[in-house]
Amino acid sequence: RIFKRQMQCRMDIDRLNAPFLSIYDSLIPTEEEKAKQKQLFTLLERLVTKEWPEARLYIYGSCGNSFGVSKSDIDLCLAIDEANINKSEFLLRLADILQSDNLQNVQALTRARVPIVKLMDPVTGISCDICINNVLAVINTKLLRDYAKIDARLRQLAFIVKHWAKSRGVNETYHGTLSSYAYVLMCIHFLQHRRPAILPCLQGMQTTYSVTVENVECSFFDQVDKLRDFGSHNKEPIARLVWGFFNYWAYSHDYANFVISVRTGSLISKREKDWTRRVGNDRHLICIEDPFEISHDLGRVVDKYSIKVLREEFERAADIMQYDANPCVKLFEPYVP
Ligand code: ATP
Ligand code: MG
Repeated sequence: RIFKRQMQCRMDIDRLNAPFLSIYDSLIPTEEEKAKQKQLFTLLERLVTKEWPEARLYIYGSCGNSFGVSKSDIDLCLAIDEANINKSEFLLRLADILQSDNLQNVQALTRARVPIVKLMDPVTGISCDICINNVLAVINTKLLRDYAKIDARLRQLAFIVKHWAKSRGVNETYHGTLSSYAYVLMCIHFLQHRRPAILPCLQGMQTTYSVTVENVECSFFDQVDKLRDFGSHNKEPIARLVWGFFNYWAYSHDYANFVISVRTGSLISKREKDWTRRVGNDRHLICIEDPFEISHDLGRVVDKYSIKVLREEFERAADIMQYDANPCVKLFEPYVP
């Protein structure tokens, strides 16, 4: 009887595959939009290298990591190898150059935690943030993009999770909830842990790509074309993974004792990382290790109020997946305070 019930439950969940896939499809940026992003990138690259021939412009964040939904802003990083550049002066100069090329709403935010220049391109309607020498973000963007190439279900799951998080208001680091980057790492970790595994641990494999940035050695296996079949022993379709993801974070994860680590492809103990107590503003209530800056907990923005909000949202989502007649609507209902 138990077996029969489990089968029934699976079939019930599987009816949600098609609606989840159509939500996923509706979130993917069109080719036209990607062409416009490219057009703006080329324009900015030309303006930057005209002024600083040795500088290079990189895309990072969701437009570069393949987890960007339609209408995302572009995150750019200007890499310039000058030991003593004054970031503020540099950004002000950059803002001047962009302004005189008809770009709109150009603003240098020199006192932000990550200083940037913001702008909007009136031709494509795309907004863009440019930061300086944030090269680790460019490398972690490549890591995420490489993971996405291994199994299509990662991108499907992450789009659904990001869409849920934005709808429910739990994708706002300034309110103590998690960044998109953190959610994607949670999805990767989750798929590394399915049995059979759907994703490998690229940093645990032979090194085929290696760079050292800001004294951090970043190395991993990046010949991901060779891993296209990696997840093929696991046939779980998207709805079961969405259900499993929310269930894991609602009812299975041991928040008190464990850190999720994409770097090692496993859980590691909070004690081992000395993340068991509050240090300064880092409370370590949900622990997500950055794959390269390993002393960096992406959950550090979460405080004693927002952890409750987050865990209640995970429970709400898991319960909707289990009991609601129409999870594909209910899951994404906007949060109204
Ligand atoms: P969105 O679609 O919401 O804009 P995004 O992928 O651009 O998503 P963000 O969380 O805005 O995600 O982060 C942009 C990029 O900045 C990430 O892809 C990552 O490279 C980098 N990043 C963000 N937060 C951190 C962090 N705490 N530590 C290291 N890198 C980070
Ligand atoms: Mg972004």
